[in-house]
Amino acid sequence: MNSFEELGLDNNILRAIKELKFENPMPVQEKIIPMMLQDEPQDIIALAQTGTGKTAAFGLPIIHKTDTTLRQVQFLVIAPTRELCLQIADDLKDYAIYNKDIKIAAIFGGSSMDRQIQKIKQGAQIISATPGRLNDLIDRGEVNLNKVKAVILDEADEMLNMGFKEELEAILETTPKTRNTFLFSATMPKPLLSIANRYMKDPVEVTIGKRNAGAENVEHVSYMVHARDKYLALKRIVDFHPNVYGIVFCRTRAETKEVSDKLMQDGYNADALHGDLSQSQRESVLNKFRTRHLRLLVATDVAARGLDVDDLTHIINYDLPDELEIYTHRSGRTGRAGKSGTSIVIANLREKYKLNTIEKQLNKKFVNLPIPSGTEICEKQLFHLIDKVEKVEVDTVQVEPFLPKIYEKLEWMDRNDLIQRFVSIEFNRFLEYYKNLQDLSSPSDSKYKERPDNGGGRSSRGGKSGNSNYTRYFLNLGVTDGLKPAQLIGMINDFTGMRDIEIGQIEILKNFSFFEADSNFQNDIMNGFKGQKLKKRDINVEIAEKRRGGGGGGGGSNKPKFSSDRKSSDGYKKSGFSKDRGERSDKKDFGRDRRFSRDKKR
Ligand code: ADP
Ligand code: MG
Repeated sequence: MNSFEELGLDNNILRAIKELKFENPMPVQEKIIPMMLQDEPQDIIALAQTGTGKTAAFGLPIIHKTDTTLRQVQFLVIAPTRELCLQIADDLKDYAIYNKDIKIAAIFGGSSMDRQIQKIKQGAQIISATPGRLNDLIDRGEVNLNKVKAVILDEADEMLNMGFKEELEAILETTPKTRNTFLFSATMPKPLLSIANRYMKDPVEVTIGKRNAGAENVEHVSYMVHARDKYLALKRIVDFHPNVYGIVFCRTRAETKEVSDKLMQDGYNADALHGDLSQSQRESVLNKFRTRHLRLLVATDVAARGLDVDDLTHIINYDLPDELEIYTHRSGRTGRAGKSGTSIVIANLREKYKLNTIEKQLNKKFVNLPIPSGTEICEKQLFHLIDKVEKVEVDTVQVEPFLPKIYEKLEWMDRNDLIQRFVSIEFNRFLEYYKNLQDLSSPSDSKYKERPDNGGGRSSRGGKSGNSNYTRYFLNLGVTDGLKPAQLIGMINDFTGMRDIEIGQIEILKNFSFFEADSNFQNDIMNGFKGQKLKKRDINVEIAEKRRGGGGGGGGSNKPKFSSDRKSSDGYKKSGFSKDRGERSDKKDFGRDRRFSRDKKR
């Protein structure tokens, strides 16, 4: 392995990173640094998971190459969020601590534009920016990018996920054609590939670790539960891991809040991180989490972006994301810095096909585990307590003076008594809770049958429905479209944004299908399906013959009762984030093949 010295970095930088305790370059640094240090570097596409040291991989060479006699922007780093952008700027400042004449400016939204403009005008040579704000400054003519030698796109896949494609293109258009482009990303989805093809010259592709694979030391575990038991399952899983320090990912703000509220009420050190928090609330939650006063952070993907905590033990997917990229990002937050971690998915049977898709693309199998029983949890907690007793450091000097009195007080108890009591002190909470609880039954894996114990009289799919609470729908897709029950269920979930709609009989015929679903959700289904497409084909859903009473969704009429804001402009295949809200605004075909299809590098 090459040392940092051998990579050709200048002495000031070597001194700075020594102080940061960077002893040896990480693999991505070992590869990228010498390439970027060349006089006329090639463009680079670097695919590496989070936590692999990408910031220094591009940061050290740009510090090295900055011409301090020139007071103009020479390097432009673009990152998806304010936090990342600040973090990168801070890291760069650390690397440049002995290169006093290098000025680094952080440019991001939600903060005074004037001050940022001033920073640029003072002669910043390096800018770390979010795409939105930088683009605003370009439009206002406040930043001159004529002298830019290289643009670094950090977490490029995330930027596209957040809907920054146009801004990125505008920025790239504004910089000199002679510039280099260095693209860093955990994954390489198609839209990113098209940006690369358009704006990069003959890029060299560098892949660290497996493409699209989660970090090597992350174990992926799945628990199958009934949808309604998800929260209870979460509790058990958390109880079964007394040392848990992790993030629970939910899909929406509302769910994030709900889950964290419940956890807090149930006595866990948990809190929520979502888009509705003010900056100061957000920082306060993050601080408590970083200092481990919170053991569980319940968060949306967007809110957790840029959050940099190294030794998380677990990532818990309370909801599965729609896209593999997001799963990869989530799970990549554990197992960092050489430590091992576990990514847990709490899924219901309807989501099984998603697990299969993830497995295929990660090229790793989920270990499917039964939800721990009350007894197992109690045992685990008990031994955790005993472990603590064994390992605790006793400050004899401080304790000594109290001991005689304590001995006297406890004299009447024998060893057995004593142990039982001391164990019960902490343990009663769990015993009490689990004493009378039945084990969570896992959904049986027989064909799409869910909630066998449901009192609603629901029959398994494929059998006769006979349930008067179902509405029967006609769907213009069938076997010839490759439609499978699991995919249909996935569509219902995705298009309605709901997961718990009871689904009855599904009949997939050659060119069309019928399915039944809880009549209470008729409007959601009719509206959800409206305007959707499958492989460019318009999807049409109508209420079929056996029409039941209920909401009155329009009987196949084309008029939606409310306009669906979920639908994207070109239907099912497209997804996007609405930038202003910063949250996902619609759903996506999860099963789509997102493998990186680029030709292997020349
Ligand atoms: P990425 O951008 O790939 O997710 P980061 O650049 O944020 O990763 O680095 C992850 C962590 O590793 C950071 O805490 C960083 O300070 C640390 N780090 C980076 N390079 C080294 C190194 N050569 N030696 C030790 N620690 C490093
Ligand atoms: Mg990074």
